[in-house]
Amino acid sequence: MKAWVLHGANDIRLENIPKPIPASGEVLVRVKAAGICSSDIPRVYANGAYFYPIILGHEFSGVTENGRRVGVFPLLPCHKCESCLSRHYETCSAYGYIGSRQNGAFAEYVAVPQWNLFELADNVTFEQAALLEPAAVALHAVKSVKDFGISKAAVVGSGVVGELTGAWLSRYGVQFVDVLGRNDKGMFQEYDLCVEAAGTVNSLERCIELVKPNGEIVLLGNPEMEFSINRKIYWQLLRKQIAVRGCWNSSYPADWKRTLDFLSEIQLGSFVSHVFNFDELNNALNMMHSKSKKHKKVMIRL
Ligand SMILES: [Zn+2]
Ligand SMILES: [Zn+2]
Repeated sequence: MKAWVLHGANDIRLENIPKPIPASGEVLVRVKAAGICSSDIPRVYANGAYFYPIILGHEFSGVTENGRRVGVFPLLPCHKCESCLSRHYETCSAYGYIGSRQNGAFAEYVAVPQWNLFELADNVTFEQAALLEPAAVALHAVKSVKDFGISKAAVVGSGVVGELTGAWLSRYGVQFVDVLGRNDKGMFQEYDLCVEAAGTVNSLERCIELVKPNGEIVLLGNPEMEFSINRKIYWQLLRKQIAVRGCWNSSYPADWKRTLDFLSEIQLGSFVSHVFNFDELNNALNMMHSKSKKHKKVMIRL
């Protein structure tokens, strides 16, 4: 099969390699669409992969050998730890992950445990299905909000997950939702809720500044590097008695089912800006890395 194999920082090659052989309980999925996550960019360009060589790609959909159209939950829980036994698979203490801890979907085929597959209705496109992962992650963050009697929310970070978070907050009835990029001014001085969706110290500090006393911050962005926070700003966390909550990944299958149910309401398709052919994955990665073009979700089609 053809696969994009990452051999080291900034060294990704289109190669011909053997198809994966599914282990017991696994199914071979022929990939039809795969999204590029912003987390894939440091994996490709900055020694951010767990090991080499590796095939990346964790947001994808495809067809099984017996013709089922499927979406894929990429987290591979141990099914044994306390989190797994209470079905909080996203907090599994020993999980694998398709496309970061084992080979992923920037290839013609991926071996996926049957448990991680779910069948797609005919009206769900492969592109939409490849967006389920970031959409479920955004939903998971929104579901962790404690107080829904709020009217003003800001999402700080305007990447795809940030935009999706904004869409879910509106869907959940928050009246005013601002998705703020680095240089955007918000509608308000203070917000009931801020979601940090960029994973940078600036966006975290901005959340602390923007949230009202006794308000709430949800941490969603995954930082690419170390950071420390200014003490003056830390004081605001204390003085304003801000409730801070972290969230990780998504609940399976609950968040995924709900995302499928609300696919059209949150207009999932509108979050895709670029679709590249499989052979052009390197160009797609370069475009995202160099920020040469404004984009939302960038995908490959097979
Ligand atoms: Zn991702
Ligand atoms: Zn576990």
